Amino acid sequence: MEENYSEFYLAKCQKRLKEWRAPLDGWFCKKIIDVREDNEDAPLATCELCDCNKVRFIHVMDHDLYFEEVCVGCICAGVMQGDILAAKERERQMKNRAKRRKNFVAGEWKETAPMGALRTYTRMHRGQRIWISVYPGNRHYVRCNEKSISRYKGRPIRDFYSAVYVAFDLADPVEELL
Ligand SMILES: [Zn+2]
Repeated sequence: MEENYSEFYLAKCQKRLKEWRAPLDGWFCKKIIDVREDNEDAPLATCELCDCNKVRFIHVMDHDLYFEEVCVGCICAGVMQGDILAAKERERQMKNRAKRRKNFVAGEWKETAPMGALRTYTRMHRGQRIWISVYPGNRHYVRCNEKSISRYKGRPIRDFYSAVYVAFDLADPVEELL
Protein backbone atom coordinates (compact mmCIF):
# COMPACT_ATOMS: atom_id res chain seq x y z
CA MET A 1 0.00 0.00 0.00
CA GLU A 2 1.11 3.48 -0.83
CA GLU A 3 0.75 4.81 2.73
CA ASN A 4 2.94 2.18 4.37
CA TYR A 5 6.45 2.88 3.29
CA SER A 6 8.88 0.20 4.39
CA GLU A 7 12.00 -1.60 3.28
CA PHE A 8 9.75 -4.36 1.96
CA TYR A 9 7.76 -1.87 -0.09
CA LEU A 10 10.91 -0.22 -1.41
CA ALA A 11 12.30 -3.63 -2.43
CA LYS A 12 9.06 -4.45 -4.23
CA CYS A 13 9.15 -1.19 -6.21
CA GLN A 14 12.77 -1.66 -7.14
CA LYS A 15 12.12 -5.25 -8.20
CA ARG A 16 9.49 -4.09 -10.64
CA LEU A 17 11.69 -1.32 -12.02
CA LYS A 18 14.40 -3.95 -12.60
CA GLU A 19 11.89 -6.17 -14.38
CA TRP A 20 11.13 -3.26 -16.68
CA ARG A 21 14.87 -2.60 -17.12
CA ALA A 22 14.09 0.91 -15.98
CA PRO A 23 16.38 3.20 -13.95
CA LEU A 24 16.00 2.71 -10.17
CA ASP A 25 16.23 6.41 -9.39
CA GLY A 26 16.80 9.82 -10.96
CA TRP A 27 13.21 10.15 -12.16
CA PHE A 28 11.47 13.52 -12.11
CA CYS A 29 7.83 14.47 -11.86
CA LYS A 30 6.69 15.90 -15.20
CA LYS A 31 3.13 16.66 -14.17
CA ILE A 32 0.59 15.75 -11.55
CA ILE A 33 -3.04 14.98 -12.26
CA ASP A 34 -5.97 15.08 -9.85
CA VAL A 35 -8.33 12.39 -11.13
CA ARG A 36 -11.13 13.94 -9.06
CA GLU A 37 -10.57 17.49 -10.22
CA ASP A 38 -13.92 17.76 -11.99
CA ASN A 39 -15.86 14.99 -10.28
CA GLU A 40 -15.55 14.00 -6.63
CA ASP A 41 -16.92 10.55 -7.39
CA ALA A 42 -14.58 9.79 -10.28
CA PRO A 43 -12.84 6.42 -9.93
CA LEU A 44 -9.38 6.49 -8.38
CA ALA A 45 -6.34 5.50 -10.41
CA THR A 46 -3.97 2.56 -10.01
CA CYS A 47 -0.27 3.06 -9.38
CA GLU A 48 1.70 1.42 -12.19
CA LEU A 49 4.55 0.54 -9.86
CA CYS A 50 2.94 -0.97 -6.73
CA ASP A 51 -0.62 -1.58 -8.04
CA CYS A 52 -2.21 0.42 -5.21
CA ASN A 53 -5.64 1.29 -6.60
CA LYS A 54 -6.44 4.29 -4.42
CA VAL A 55 -4.43 6.97 -6.20
CA ARG A 56 -6.14 10.35 -6.45
CA PHE A 57 -3.08 12.37 -7.49
CA ILE A 58 -1.15 10.73 -10.33
CA HIS A 59 2.51 11.71 -10.36
CA VAL A 60 3.65 11.35 -13.98
CA MET A 61 7.30 10.35 -13.73
CA ASP A 62 9.79 10.75 -16.55
CA HIS A 63 13.42 9.77 -17.06
CA ASP A 64 15.85 10.68 -19.81
CA LEU A 65 17.00 7.07 -20.08
CA TYR A 66 13.57 5.45 -20.23
CA PHE A 67 11.26 5.28 -23.21
CA GLU A 68 7.96 6.08 -21.54
CA GLU A 69 6.37 7.91 -18.63
CA VAL A 70 5.22 6.00 -15.57
CA CYS A 71 2.09 7.04 -13.66
CA VAL A 72 2.38 6.39 -9.93
CA GLY A 73 1.12 7.41 -6.51
CA CYS A 74 2.91 9.65 -4.05
CA ILE A 75 5.23 7.19 -2.30
CA CYS A 76 6.29 5.40 -5.47
CA ALA A 77 7.02 8.80 -6.99
CA GLY A 78 9.24 9.48 -3.97
CA VAL A 79 11.04 6.15 -4.43
CA MET A 80 11.66 6.82 -8.14
CA GLN A 81 12.76 10.38 -7.47
CA GLY A 82 14.94 9.33 -4.53
CA ASP A 83 13.16 11.87 -2.34
CA ILE A 84 10.05 10.78 -0.46
CA LEU A 85 9.65 14.13 1.30
CA ALA A 86 9.63 16.05 -1.98
CA ALA A 87 6.88 13.78 -3.35
CA LYS A 88 4.84 14.14 -0.14
CA GLU A 89 5.19 17.92 -0.27
CA ARG A 90 4.04 17.95 -3.90
CA GLU A 91 1.02 15.87 -2.96
CA ARG A 92 0.22 18.18 -0.03
CA GLN A 93 0.41 21.21 -2.32
CA MET A 94 -1.96 19.53 -4.77
CA LYS A 95 -4.45 18.81 -1.98
CA ASN A 96 -4.35 22.47 -0.97
CA ARG A 97 -4.81 23.52 -4.57
CA ALA A 98 -7.84 21.22 -4.90
CA LYS A 99 -9.39 23.02 -1.89
CA ARG A 100 -8.60 26.41 -3.39
CA ARG A 101 -10.20 25.32 -6.66
CA LYS A 102 -13.37 24.24 -4.88
CA ASN A 103 -13.61 27.62 -3.12
CA PHE A 104 -12.76 29.43 -6.32
CA VAL A 105 -15.50 27.75 -8.32
CA ALA A 106 -18.05 28.61 -5.62
CA GLY A 107 -16.81 32.20 -5.27
CA GLU A 108 -18.44 35.34 -6.56
CA TRP A 109 -17.52 37.54 -9.49
CA LYS A 110 -18.09 41.26 -9.68
CA GLU A 111 -19.50 42.69 -12.88
CA THR A 112 -17.72 45.77 -14.20
CA ALA A 113 -19.57 48.58 -15.98
CA PRO A 114 -20.96 47.17 -19.27
CA MET A 115 -19.47 48.43 -22.52
CA GLY A 116 -22.03 47.97 -25.28
CA ALA A 117 -22.84 44.27 -25.60
CA LEU A 118 -19.63 43.27 -23.83
CA ARG A 119 -19.96 41.98 -20.29
CA THR A 120 -16.94 41.70 -18.04
CA TYR A 121 -16.61 40.02 -14.65
CA THR A 122 -13.64 40.25 -12.34
CA ARG A 123 -12.20 38.98 -9.09
CA MET A 124 -8.90 38.44 -7.30
CA HIS A 125 -7.09 35.17 -6.63
CA ARG A 126 -3.82 34.98 -4.68
CA GLY A 127 -3.07 38.62 -5.34
CA GLN A 128 -3.83 38.45 -9.06
CA ARG A 129 -6.72 40.10 -10.84
CA ILE A 130 -8.69 37.94 -13.26
CA TRP A 131 -11.23 39.03 -15.86
CA ILE A 132 -13.80 37.04 -17.78
CA SER A 133 -15.21 38.89 -20.78
CA VAL A 134 -18.32 37.66 -22.53
CA TYR A 135 -18.70 38.86 -26.11
CA PRO A 136 -21.80 38.65 -28.28
CA GLY A 137 -22.22 35.11 -29.59
CA ASN A 138 -21.35 33.84 -26.12
CA ARG A 139 -17.60 33.94 -26.71
CA HIS A 140 -15.73 33.97 -23.41
CA TYR A 141 -12.23 35.34 -22.90
CA VAL A 142 -10.26 34.88 -19.71
CA ARG A 143 -7.44 37.23 -18.81
CA CYS A 144 -4.86 36.98 -16.04
CA ASN A 145 -1.12 37.63 -15.73
CA GLU A 146 -1.03 39.28 -19.16
CA LYS A 147 -2.35 36.11 -20.77
CA SER A 148 -5.65 35.87 -22.58
CA ILE A 149 -7.33 32.53 -23.25
CA SER A 150 -10.45 31.82 -25.28
CA ARG A 151 -10.33 28.02 -25.48
CA TYR A 152 -10.88 25.22 -22.97
CA LYS A 153 -9.77 21.66 -23.79
CA GLY A 154 -9.36 22.67 -27.43
CA ARG A 155 -12.75 24.30 -27.86
CA PRO A 156 -13.94 27.89 -27.68
CA ILE A 157 -15.24 28.71 -24.22
CA ARG A 158 -19.04 28.84 -24.52
CA ASP A 159 -20.17 28.96 -20.91
CA PHE A 160 -19.24 30.76 -17.75
CA TYR A 161 -18.36 27.60 -15.79
CA SER A 162 -15.69 26.58 -18.28
CA ALA A 163 -14.35 30.13 -18.17
CA VAL A 164 -14.08 29.86 -14.38
CA TYR A 165 -12.00 26.64 -14.68
CA VAL A 166 -9.74 28.31 -17.21
CA ALA A 167 -9.40 31.30 -14.90
CA PHE A 168 -8.34 29.09 -12.01
CA ASP A 169 -5.70 27.27 -14.07
CA LEU A 170 -4.33 30.60 -15.23
CA ALA A 171 -4.13 32.12 -11.76
CA ASP A 172 -3.11 28.96 -9.89
CA PRO A 173 -1.12 26.77 -12.31
CA VAL A 174 -0.17 23.19 -11.36
CA GLU A 175 3.27 23.73 -12.91
CA GLU A 176 4.21 26.02 -10.05
CA LEU A 177 3.85 23.13 -7.61
CA LEU A 178 6.35 20.83 -9.32
ZN1 LIG B 1 2.69 2.97 -5.91
